Parts: sequence; C-alpha cells; structure tokens
Amino acid sequence: MDEKHSVVIIGGGITGISIARDLALRGVSDILLLEKDALASGASGRNHGLLHSGARYVVKDPLSARECAQENKILRKIAPHLIEDTGGLFISLPQDPPSYVDEFIRGCKNTGVEFEELSISEALKLEPNLNPEILRVFHVNDASIDAFQLALLTAYDASINGASIRPFSKVIDIIKDGMDVIGVKVYDSLRRRTYTIRSEIVINATNAWANKVTKLIGIQLPIILDRGTLIVFSRRILNTVVNRLRPPSDGDILVPHHTTSIMGTTSISIDDPEKLLPSSEEIFSMVKAAVEITPEARSSRIIRAYAGPRALLSMGANNSSRELPRSYRIFDHEIENGVSGFISIVGGKLTTARLMAEKLVDVVLKKLGIRAPCPTHKESLPGADRDINYEDLAKKMKISNAAAMRIISRWGGMVREIINYANGEGTIVCSCESVHVAELRFAIEKLWAMNIDDLTKRCRAGMGPCQAMNCVYRLASILRQSNNFSADYILDYFIHFLRRRWRGEYPVMFSHQERQCILKLAIYCCLGNFDKLLKKYEVLPSAKRI
Ligand SMILES: Cc1cc2nc3c(=O)[nH]c(=O)nc-3n(C[C@H](O)[C@H](O)[C@H](O)COP(=O)(O)OP(=O)(O)OC[C@H]3O[C@@H](n4cnc5c(N)ncnc54)[C@H](O)[C@@H]3O)c2cc1C
Repeated sequence: MDEKHSVVIIGGGITGISIARDLALRGVSDILLLEKDALASGASGRNHGLLHSGARYVVKDPLSARECAQENKILRKIAPHLIEDTGGLFISLPQDPPSYVDEFIRGCKNTGVEFEELSISEALKLEPNLNPEILRVFHVNDASIDAFQLALLTAYDASINGASIRPFSKVIDIIKDGMDVIGVKVYDSLRRRTYTIRSEIVINATNAWANKVTKLIGIQLPIILDRGTLIVFSRRILNTVVNRLRPPSDGDILVPHHTTSIMGTTSISIDDPEKLLPSSEEIFSMVKAAVEITPEARSSRIIRAYAGPRALLSMGANNSSRELPRSYRIFDHEIENGVSGFISIVGGKLTTARLMAEKLVDVVLKKLGIRAPCPTHKESLPGADRDINYEDLAKKMKISNAAAMRIISRWGGMVREIINYANGEGTIVCSCESVHVAELRFAIEKLWAMNIDDLTKRCRAGMGPCQAMNCVYRLASILRQSNNFSADYILDYFIHFLRRRWRGEYPVMFSHQERQCILKLAIYCCLGNFDKLLKKYEVLPSAKRI
C-alpha cells in the first residue's frame, strides 16, 4: 500500500473532525481524516446553527435532551467565542395544541433541562417583534453557534495536535483481508490520482453517506435519509432563538445568526444525500412559519435557501422522519457483522458531536489496547480566550472599532495569530461582514481554504446581505496572490461558486430578492464582462442544471 496510518477517519464533518481531535488529544499518533469535498460541506455546514439547550427534545427524545443540556454547558466553556448567548424562547400560539405546554413542562422537569416561564409582557419587552398573539412563553438556554468555525477550529486543533486532515480525498473502496478491514482506496480530486492506505482501524463518520461507504463491503445500516430546508433572511429579525411550542413540525425554529436570521426546517425523506435543492413548497412553508413567529418576517428579504442531509436511525415500522429520534448510534462492525477494524457512527447533532466522538474513541482505544481518559470536555478550542481589546485591535489592523468587534466575534483570541497576516494593510474585503484581508490569508494558510466557497465559510466573507456580489472578485484575487493556486483553477472554482450561489438564490428569487438578483446580474455583466463568461460556462440557472 502507498501509505500507512494507525486510524483513518472517513468524513470531514463535525463528527469525523471531533473524532480526529479526541484521538489526537488522547495521544494516538498517525491519525488521518479524509473528506471527499471541503471540510464541513455536508450537514455540518448546512444546518440551523442552533446550540440546543435540550428543550426541543424533552417530550419525544429525553436522552437527546439530556445530552444536549450537558454538551451545551461544555461547549460554552470550551468554545465561548463561537457561541452567541442569545437565549431561547418557546412560544405557544393560539393554533398550537395547549396540551403540549404541560408535556413540555413535564419533559423539562424529568430531564433536568432548565426553563423559566415568562409573562407575555416580559417576552414582548425582550423581543418586541414577536407575534403579539403568543399565549405562553418559556425561556431556555438555547444559543446561536457558528457551525463552520466550530468544525474548522476543531480541525485546526486536531492538526496542531498531530492529526492529518485531507480534504478533497474521497474513499472509493474499503480494502479487506478476509474478514478484517485493513485499509482504504482514495481518490484525490485535486491532484486527480488514486492511492491506497493501510490502517489498523477505519472509522466511517460520513453520516448521510454512511450506507454508501458500508455498501462497499456489503453492509447495510438501519438508517433512513432526510433533507431539511432552511431560508436565510438578510437581517436579524429577532435577537433570541425562537421555537414553537408544539410537536415537531415544519418551520419550528428561527435562529439569529451573525447579521442574518435562519428559519427552518422541513423534514423530507430522500434517497440520495446529494439531492438537496429546496422546493418552492418548502420555501413558502418556511416563510409562512416565520411570519407566524414574527410578522416582521413578511417585510424581510430572503437572501438564500439551502438544505442539509440527515441520517436518522430507523425504528422499523414507524419511519416517519418527524417521529424518528435525533440520537446517534455506534456500529462496531466486528460485533454487528463479524468484520473487524471497521466502525461506523451515524445520527446525532452538532451540539452533541463532542460527546459522540468521546464514546466512539473509547471503543477505538479499547481495540488498540490504549488507556487514556478523554480530555475534550475541558480542553478549550483555539481562540477561546477572548480577552482582546477591540480598540487596540482596530489600531493595529487599521480598521474601525466596529469592524474590530466583528472580527473578534468570529475568532476570539485567534486574532492574535491572524494579525500577523495583515502585512500592515487595513483592507476590508467584505464590507457586509467586515472581513479583513488578514482573516482570508490565515484561512488559506492554516484552515484548508482552497477556493472562494471555503473562504466564505471560514471568514463569513460574502455571507451577508449582498451575498458576495461585491467581494467575489476580491476573494478570487486573494487566492491568486497566495501563490498556492493557478489562475485556471481559481476561475474554475469562481464559476463553481457562482453556480452554487445561483442554486441558493434561485428558489427565493421573488419580491425584494428578485430586484437584488437583477442588480447583481447587471453589475456582473456590465462591469465584469460576465455575459461572455456566463454563456461560456453556463453559470445562469437553466432547467437542466438545477
Ligand atoms: C437541516 C438540518 C439542520 C440542523 N440543525 C442543527 C442545529 O441547529 N443544531 C444541531 O446541533 N444540529 C443540527 N443538525 C444536525 C447536525 O447538522 C448534524 O448532526 C451534524 O452536522 C452531522 O455531522 P457529521 O459529521 O456526522 O455529518 P456531515 O457533516 O454530513 O459530514 C459527513 C461528511 O462525510 C463526507 N463523505 C461522504 N462520503 C465520503 C467518502 N466516501 N469519502 C470521504 N468523505 C466522505 C461528506 O462529504 C461529509 O462532509 C441539523 C441537521 C440538518 C440536516
């Protein structure tokens, strides 16, 4: 075989990345994580960004509720810089079943999930834009979390501690010797080459893709696939996470996320984790649900829609995706199928990924004969020390105080390292999100940013109201200046990025956003000669493409 590692992890979402960090912090050497696309390109980069308090699950799934409550507290300690402590409200509207309120209170008490009932006037004082028809309101410890940064900084910490992280590396085969898994075959889509890796243990952390991987050796996991669609509003409509107090349904949760608000989600069975284009029915049901929570949503611009794939543990006869638990399961294939050296993990949540990794690594270490306690509940992620003075930073980076505050809110104490990439320049590349050129250079050098899409996810460049209309050219030129990528490569990914953005904008291209899209197209075509490029590369959405 071409390479040898002790543990290979397949899947660069939050689960696989947390496993890599846990193994590295417990002293296991020679860990390799393989991701077929960019890091966090699956559900980990396509979710609601809600740090669950557990309250969402107290009625139907008490185990998940307890786990979320525990992990919520841990994440606040180890990653405070990635969390905005918005708090959460559960609201009951006249159309919601009143009996659910009692079930909710009972569930919170049984699971130990903290809650407090507010009066209607207290709730409206806290959130004046809430629907004034609310009947009951409860405050819980929900928060908004930056899912991309959580995944990326966890990966960064894993790599600092010795793990190798390899994006754009797809596992295309599992290599067996008799009933033992002894390695994997990998396709490197950047260098267009195939190679093999020998490994003592192979971990399948591909979640919605899990059965595609196990199928390579004839194993079928009892999971069903589901898609959840979300819409993004161009501004913060509320400053608190708001949940509906009713059995889980479409459009239950509105999350304030940086400069935007995210409304979701639906739950639709799918047969392929790549089939993620939201339908117009889903979009309209999300808009309707948002307006029920806050009438302000009616006049707010929707800038994008996206969907994420979930793997849900099958319950045999009752497989309605809304009814299935959001818990996780570890499949030790030696016990389940008599195939040694191979373990799968599926299900769970972003909020509980650290715990899932801890449980899985316990199984791995037992197999490797290593005894090492898990430290991830107390070891902070890079940047967790937030003791940074924004006025000092503003002076050093030659930017406004407001921009400095935004940068600190994204990176916490990591700005001390990022500042070294400023080269004395005070350039703000994305003015919607106040992204400094130093952040982008840091992401390219240290956080595996290889294209425009990666830059938007790591630094929030292009994630705000104009959706990269203004900064996309600058992002391309910063990639080019890094000397890591050829002009052709950057152009390819530039086109890829525009296509992806169209896919996200096309379903919400009505009302205010339609005008915005026409403006964007006019600017691209009149100033950037894009009419030529668009024709050549078929960037515009066509029925065939989307
Ligand atoms: C719509 C939606 C909203 C959600 N909202 C929340 C929320 O607000 N809060 C919360 O806590 N949780 C939320 N979740 C759940 C959470 O997002 C997921 O539990 C979590 O992101 C799963 O992470 P993962 O690493 O297991 O899977 P993924 O992030 O999907 O990662 C799997 C990775 O495996 C890679 N892969 C697949 N096949 C291969 C291969 N052959 N070789 C190499 N790599 C491969 C994929 O490219 C992918 O990147 C939400 C989920 C969805 C779908």
